[in-house]
Amino acid sequence: MLRSVWLAHAGDTSVARCLHLPVGRWRIALCARCAALYPTLLLVLALQVLLRARLGPHPTADAVLALGGAFPALLDWSRARLGAPSPRATRLWSGALLGLALGRTIFLHWRDPPGELLAIQLALLAAGAAGTLLLARKQARSSASRLFLG
Ligand SMILES: [Zn+2]
Repeated sequence: MLRSVWLAHAGDTSVARCLHLPVGRWRIALCARCAALYPTLLLVLALQVLLRARLGPHPTADAVLALGGAFPALLDWSRARLGAPSPRATRLWSGALLGLALGRTIFLHWRDPPGELLAIQLALLAAGAAGTLLLARKQARSSASRLFLG
């Protein structure tokens, strides 16, 4: 029996994008991206707090990680919103990379606020998500009008 669909962000159709964890006689469907993202984010934050003195800002490397690390998850999410498959393996590695990227920019913000790189990273993620949602809405309207017009 499949339970806790809210951990998968969607209905049963997203089962292929989830990890299936056995808990007693149930299987919990857990979003593969979130299963990688949040533990990685927490681990990266914890390691940086422990190694604070040795992990100061490295502007070029931090910018590459912040943007390059966030982009694959955004791309996979966007493709999935537009109807493309989002395989579990892709969700795992892109979620872990996003957790790494967010963990670094959040730490830099904590260390030396305001974290400009975090603001840029979040703004680009929001802009990408907004653009995708607009495209998905346009795609849905186009499909609906084709059905209506025959
Ligand atoms: Zn998720």
